[in-house]
Amino acid sequence: MDFSLSKEQQDIKKAAAEFAKGEFKPEVAHECELNHRFPRELYKKAGGLGFVGMDYPEEVGGGGMGVLENVLIVEEFCKADSGIGMAIHLAYLPAKIVRIFGTAEQRRKYLTPITRGDWICGVCFTEPDHGSDLTRMETTLVEKSDGFVLNGTKIFTTNAAYADYFIVLAQDDPDAAPGKGMTTVLVEKDPSSRLSGSLEINEIPHKMGIRTTSSGELVFHELKVPKKNIVGERGKGLNTVLGFLDESRIEIAAQALGNAEGAFLKALNHARERRQFQKPIIDFQAIGHRLGRLWSQLMSVKYLTYFAAWMCDQKNEKDLATLPLFTSMVKHHVPETAKKIIDETITVFGGYGYFLEQDVERRYRDNRIVEMYEGTVEVQLNNMVRILKKLNMDFIDSSLL
Ligand SMILES: Cc1cc2nc3c(=O)[nH]c(=O)nc-3n(C[C@H](O)[C@H](O)[C@H](O)COP(=O)(O)OP(=O)(O)OC[C@H]3O[C@@H](n4cnc5c(N)ncnc54)[C@H](O)[C@@H]3O)c2cc1C
Repeated sequence: MDFSLSKEQQDIKKAAAEFAKGEFKPEVAHECELNHRFPRELYKKAGGLGFVGMDYPEEVGGGGMGVLENVLIVEEFCKADSGIGMAIHLAYLPAKIVRIFGTAEQRRKYLTPITRGDWICGVCFTEPDHGSDLTRMETTLVEKSDGFVLNGTKIFTTNAAYADYFIVLAQDDPDAAPGKGMTTVLVEKDPSSRLSGSLEINEIPHKMGIRTTSSGELVFHELKVPKKNIVGERGKGLNTVLGFLDESRIEIAAQALGNAEGAFLKALNHARERRQFQKPIIDFQAIGHRLGRLWSQLMSVKYLTYFAAWMCDQKNEKDLATLPLFTSMVKHHVPETAKKIIDETITVFGGYGYFLEQDVERRYRDNRIVEMYEGTVEVQLNNMVRILKKLNMDFIDSSLL
């Protein structure tokens, strides 16, 4: 068994770490946090250096690599800074749908500007009455002779205020059974790309974390888009969403991994330097043991995340059948563990940990969303139970070999 990354993967990880350490300065992170500003200049630089779209084909400017390489970058970015790291990742993550399900023309048009860090994208699944339950959408998609008309409301869309395009899940067939008859469709922000109707975007203010991102409500008023904007198979929108989530949830878990690693490093440094009762606080067993446990927890989620990403990249027929078991495993376990780790680092910092300056309270707030978006912890556990209940016992046993 070889746990080491390839030379190329090590180089990618090192380059991402160097870039993030050099560019994600605390003063920039705090300014973005306090002004609720997306760090567009850093996104653009990250794109220019090839960190955006590592899994896209080379012909559209991507790296032609896989989920594991993306995980390494997201981990390093979030390790350096949770707010900036998560904002950059969330700005390009939705375009993965186009990479997996788009036509050659859609990939060229919608992925190329993302890889350069010029465009930002968003994904609109959630509606006021449909969050965890995506088996039916109230947003409708109606076919006309020259296009498709969207009507409805989406909420909590990340990057709402500045995304150049959105991928929207809509109910195409109103009479279809739950989970059926939905379609994903591309909607560009540029009004000239649409045939008629309008798109209203309203920012949802006052959120707990990831204040470096926008979260908004999108309202589609008789919005007509060209027929070529359908992405993936018509009527199979839920499959498109689930195919995306199988990959994206692993990368999302890497956000939590990096968030926890960054908090741990800060806390370890603080525990070695901070003196009370004439000795460094790491010499008090309560603090030293705490850090020892955090290290063990960190390593367990780190290699679990790498393993899920590696498994996803293998595209092995047998593994793919159980992939959602591993995707949901990291999507619930990594952020839950990271939450505990970051909380403990606040303890190590004492009163200083309660203030923005040390960044551990911000990491805690930023990290909290990783348990929720792209399916809550409870939804991940439901997925796992569904698979564990159904799969042949011999097959499960052989997966553990
Ligand atoms: C900051 C932020 C950014 C987001 N970004 C996006 C985005 O870009 N695009 C997008 O489409 N959505 C986005 N979301 C929405 C997010 O994916 C949903 O909030 C999430 O899926 C939960 O849906 P809900 O909020 O409606 O909660 P609900 O579905 O109402 O759930 C409420 C509670 O009930 C639990 N629950 C629900 N069903 C079950 C069940 N069957 N078994 C056990 N427990 C259950 C949930 O786990 C949760 O604890 C974002 C949300 C936030 C807060």
